[in-house]
Amino acid sequence: MKKRIIFLILAVAALLAFVWMLNYRVISNKNGEKLSVVATLFPYYDFAKIVGGDKAEVSLLLPPGIEAHSFEPKPSDIFKINSADIFVYTGDFMEPWAKDILIGINNKKLSVVKAGDVVSLLNGSDEGLGSGADPHIWLDLLNSENIVDGILTAFVKKDPQNSDFYIQNAHNLKNELKDLDNSFKAGLSNCQTKTLIYGGHYAFGYLVKRYGLNYLAAQGFAPDSEPTARDLANLINELKKNNVGYVFYEELSSPKIAETISEETGAKLLLLNTAEKITKEDLNNNVSFIDIIKEDLVNLKTGLGCQ
Ligand SMILES: [Zn+2]
Repeated sequence: MKKRIIFLILAVAALLAFVWMLNYRVISNKNGEKLSVVATLFPYYDFAKIVGGDKAEVSLLLPPGIEAHSFEPKPSDIFKINSADIFVYTGDFMEPWAKDILIGINNKKLSVVKAGDVVSLLNGSDEGLGSGADPHIWLDLLNSENIVDGILTAFVKKDPQNSDFYIQNAHNLKNELKDLDNSFKAGLSNCQTKTLIYGGHYAFGYLVKRYGLNYLAAQGFAPDSEPTARDLANLINELKKNNVGYVFYEELSSPKIAETISEETGAKLLLLNTAEKITKEDLNNNVSFIDIIKEDLVNLKTGLGCQ
C-alpha cells in the first residue's frame, strides 16, 4: 500500500513536471519568436529595425521630441534593457549612464553593441572643442556602415538560425548607405562655399570632415550653452563673407540663434537634421535615417550653392 502511494505521488509529480515543461516551452517560444532590441538613439533604432525585419521587436529609448544629450533613463527603461536580447548604444561619451546600468543589471543573455567601438572616432581636440570624443559618429556614412555590421553580428549571435535573413537585410542597407555617400561626394563637389554655418550644436564634424567642408556651429558637442555675443558676431561675419545667403538650423530645437543670424544678414533658414533625435510625427510616419540624411543633402546643396 505504502509503495503504491509513493508510486502515485511520483507519477503525479512527473506528470506535473511534464505539464510545467510543456507550458514553459510554449511560453518561451512565444517570447522567443522575436528578438528584443533596445537602442538608445534614432540611427541605431532604425538600423536594428531594418536588419531585424519582422524577426525583431526594436524599441527606441530616447522618447520622440526629447533632447538626446541630457537624456537619462527611467526605471522602466532599465527594466527594458534588463529583459532585452540586444542593447545598442554609442559609448560613455554619449550615454554616460549606461555603464552603471550594464554593471548593475542581471541579464546574462544580453548582447551589447557599443557603436563607438566599431567606428573611427573624432576627438574634440581635432575639432577645436577641447577633450573627449565627438559622439555624432553616425554622421559619417562609412561609420554608419560599420555600425550596421556591429548590429548584424549581434543578431547572428543571438539568432543564428535566421542569419541569412539578417545578412541580406544588412547588405541592402549598407548598399543604400554607400549610394548616399556617393551622392554626397558628387553633390557637394562644386559649391559656391565650403563653409557650413549652423545655428545648432556641433553635430556635423564627421560629415564635414568626410566631404571636405568647413564648419562653424553656435554651440559645442551638446546643445547646453548659449553662444556668446562674440561667437554670434563671428558666425554673422562668416556668413556675410560666403555670400550664399543661407543659415542652417537644428531639428527640434529653438531656431532662435539661426533667426538672429538671419535677421542680421538677411540669410534664409534651412533645416539640417542631426538624426540623433526624432519627432513623434516622423517616428509615426516611419521616416528612416536615410530619408533624413537625403533631405540634409538637398538642403546642403541649396545652402552651400552647389551645382
Ligand atoms: Zn548631438
